[in-house]
Amino acid sequence: MACSPLGSLGPHCNPPFQMGRPSPGCSCLGGALGLMGMQKSKAKPNGKKPAAEERKAYLEPEHTKARITDFQFKELVVLPHEIDLNEWLASNTTTFFHHINLQYSTISEFCTGETCQTMAVCNTQYYWYDERGKKVKCTAPQYVDFVMSSVQKLVTDEDVFPTKYGREFPSSFESLVRKICRHLFHVLAHIYWAHFKETLALELHGHLNTLYVHFILFAREFNLLDPKETAIMDDLTEVLCSGAGGVHSGGSGDGAGSGGPGAQNHVKER
Ligand SMILES: [Zn+2]
Repeated sequence: MACSPLGSLGPHCNPPFQMGRPSPGCSCLGGALGLMGMQKSKAKPNGKKPAAEERKAYLEPEHTKARITDFQFKELVVLPHEIDLNEWLASNTTTFFHHINLQYSTISEFCTGETCQTMAVCNTQYYWYDERGKKVKCTAPQYVDFVMSSVQKLVTDEDVFPTKYGREFPSSFESLVRKICRHLFHVLAHIYWAHFKETLALELHGHLNTLYVHFILFAREFNLLDPKETAIMDDLTEVLCSGAGGVHSGGSGDGAGSGGPGAQNHVKER
């Protein structure tokens, strides 16, 4: 199971999201982690963070430098000539969805209603909102299930992500892509915040870092994530993305000056 740089994988290479089922590969995880002396269910409930564990292991230099490729994602995310923006957004979003789903599946057996009673990242708890906009309090695995099944539904909906020649993208397409990216970001952030230890034990932190950098740079290129939303992980983003050609302003805004040449404009023009 590999989370290769997304450029090299098409949607067909990825297993479909399997809700509520153990991921392929899970069978070996218990053993691997058992050897590392990790326990599945005795961990602290997330959301209430013990001060002693506040150190963010994912920020340690020996971990942040782990990658599976030194590819310049900054170049990879730029819209290629002759490719329609929406097609580019659709294909990348779909692929990120598959990769983030896959990355989460590697630690999903450790993300339970007991270990992760809320969808927590740092001091923030995320709530799911159902179709009627009603706030749903849920555990992290439930939240991830909601995310993955709703995204799966969208990316396979021919009216939203059309694949047939001549079919148009809906006018709401970009805002749907933004929503998808926001939710996928929550999942990535949760993996770092609550499951970095397991990811490390599985030696998949290089994959996670690589995926994170690619995803963040892509989202930044097309203004798909609100900086306020991602601020929670700015410390990590700063470290991981500074060497990837994407110096992050951290702040305010609209990405002025931080995107590729003309990249932001593609979105704004629409
Ligand atoms: Zn979790």
